Amino acid sequence: MGLEILVCIKQVPHPDHFSEIRLDVGSGHIIREGVPAIINPLDRNALEEGLRVKERFSGKVTVISMGPPQAQKALEEALAMGADRGILLCDVAFAGADTLATANTLFYAVRKLGKFDLIYCGNETVDSGTAQVGPQLAELLDIPQVSGVQEVAFVDEKTLEVRRALEHGYMKVRLKLPALLCVTRGINRPRLPTVQSIMEVAQKEMIIWKAKDIGAPPESIGLKGSPTCAAGVYEHKVGRRREIMQGSTEEQVQRTVARLKELGAI
Ligand SMILES: Cc1cc2nc3c(=O)[nH]c(=O)nc-3n(C[C@H](O)[C@H](O)[C@H](O)COP(=O)(O)OP(=O)(O)OC[C@H]3O[C@@H](n4cnc5c(N)ncnc54)[C@H](O)[C@@H]3O)c2cc1C
Repeated sequence: MGLEILVCIKQVPHPDHFSEIRLDVGSGHIIREGVPAIINPLDRNALEEGLRVKERFSGKVTVISMGPPQAQKALEEALAMGADRGILLCDVAFAGADTLATANTLFYAVRKLGKFDLIYCGNETVDSGTAQVGPQLAELLDIPQVSGVQEVAFVDEKTLEVRRALEHGYMKVRLKLPALLCVTRGINRPRLPTVQSIMEVAQKEMIIWKAKDIGAPPESIGLKGSPTCAAGVYEHKVGRRREIMQGSTEEQVQRTVARLKELGAI
């Protein structure tokens, strides 16, 4: 049937390097420079799901990201995994975006693309982790959406039945295409790029759009389009104390337990 599938991808700092991220207390911004970046893990699951649907029904998978120039690397990795086309939304006008301004930017890009059947997002990111962008984008596009998606089945060409995670179980939701799904980790195991697929990246389309290319009104994007702003950021001060216990092993254990009780730790 040839589906148009869009996958929203955010480049995030590598969790192994979170301790290297600094906060600019003055501006309230996160300083990500110099910290290795990866595709947000759940966005790899979202892409894997999109690729599987394409393999089953044929079609095209477009990966789209709003981010700085280096986010192109994340899109290239997505192309190496099998996506057909990458779109980087990159402009200083997008900077300082909160989740609504991010969703607005994605909305104008999706509108410019025209036809689509399915949009996949990760359920949340590992850095900001609000889980708001997917539902906001669906709302702006006026299409049905489901978050916490664990499994997707096609009832027919235009109808999906998805399994949605609940705290003590799950529910099944039926919805019509076009739709947006925010996926969870257990939904699949993302594939790794192969040498062949890495070599094919150079032949694939990579588009870079600025705000004017997608017709995004300046007041709806970036800092201007953000109804929230960081009022302040604060770093936890982690204090550490060291005490060395003397004596035999048994005495050291007894003294440690007594000391921990004294400190109210146990
Ligand atoms: C007040 C405020 C100010 C901010 N200022 C800045 C800033 O100056 N610079 C900055 O880098 N960040 C800034 N942020 C963070 C930025 O708003 C979020 O990173 C961004 O909106 C995505 O939110 P999230 O990470 O919570 O995504 P979630 O809602 O948790 O993400 C869910 C899914 O949406 C999709 N998605 C999310 N973000 C993108 C994206 N950018 N491109 C494509 N798909 C995406 C992915 O599929 C992702 O898995 C700010 C946040 C706030 C609240």
